[in-house]
Amino acid sequence: MSASAARPGVLISEVGPRDGLQSVKATMATAAKMRWIDALVAAGVREIEVGSFVPAKLLPQLADTAEIVRHGLTHPGVTIMALVPNLRGAEAAVAAGVHKLTIPISASEAHSLANVRKTRAAMVDELRAIVALRDRAAPRVKVEAGLSTAFGCTIQGEVKESDVVWLAQACADAGADDIGLSDTTGMANPAQVRRLFNAVRAAIGSKTGAAHMHNTRGLGLANCLAAYDVGVRTFDASLGGLGGCPYAPGASGNVVTEDLVFMFEAMGIATGIDIARLIAARAPLIAGLPGEPVYGMTPEAGLPKGWAQAQA
Ligand code: ZN
Repeated sequence: MSASAARPGVLISEVGPRDGLQSVKATMATAAKMRWIDALVAAGVREIEVGSFVPAKLLPQLADTAEIVRHGLTHPGVTIMALVPNLRGAEAAVAAGVHKLTIPISASEAHSLANVRKTRAAMVDELRAIVALRDRAAPRVKVEAGLSTAFGCTIQGEVKESDVVWLAQACADAGADDIGLSDTTGMANPAQVRRLFNAVRAAIGSKTGAAHMHNTRGLGLANCLAAYDVGVRTFDASLGGLGGCPYAPGASGNVVTEDLVFMFEAMGIATGIDIARLIAARAPLIAGLPGEPVYGMTPEAGLPKGWAQAQA
């Protein structure tokens, strides 16, 4: 298992404290979230999406996001991200001091209308307003657009690849620093992932951002590897796969961080994350959300005999 000289490496962006926690009914106590984030940082995680700036009545699980941001900022060298759905959320996030904002924009018009009651074009206008806020008030803050339902939609079914490329271009033109592709519904396959990232990169070049894959149908890791093969170097994942898909009880949602780190490290691709410490970071998660299922093959199987990490 000894992994060979490991470069260029990848960035694993932990989204559990946002994407995971927003999908579970229980609310994790603020102190428990902080312990979980501390454990992720101790494992070497260098980017964490810590919450979402949405009205507390919509997502009471994330009502303490500003406090969690401030806690996250006590860890030097860690990029603290938050999701914002609109300009008002962006104002709150900038006031809290985030390093990076992520704005979800549906590639499916039907999903956009159902989810935020706005067309995709109206969301691009919102993005443009957020970029203007950033330019004026917080020029060092990065702005990411995350194109949700990029690989298929539970409402409209197929999402045309030309629509995704058009939207990525519109977001780049609106001033987003990078544009990621999200398999919100777990419908992607590796051939599609290669095709779509290549098409988006042909349109917007180095603004092509992260792969946010779900494991709903068991293809999460395969899709991440396909994205890696076509040049993607940032991957969203959730510790314990937290955030099971609400439409498929028992099915895991986000790609499991532990399994993703294991895959890359086993291939000799450095993540900067110590996998034993990462597995240990499940303890504060489980303690903070008693009874909530957590997933992951690597934590169950353990590390192979003679395991050595890529960055060692
Ligand atoms: Zn997700």
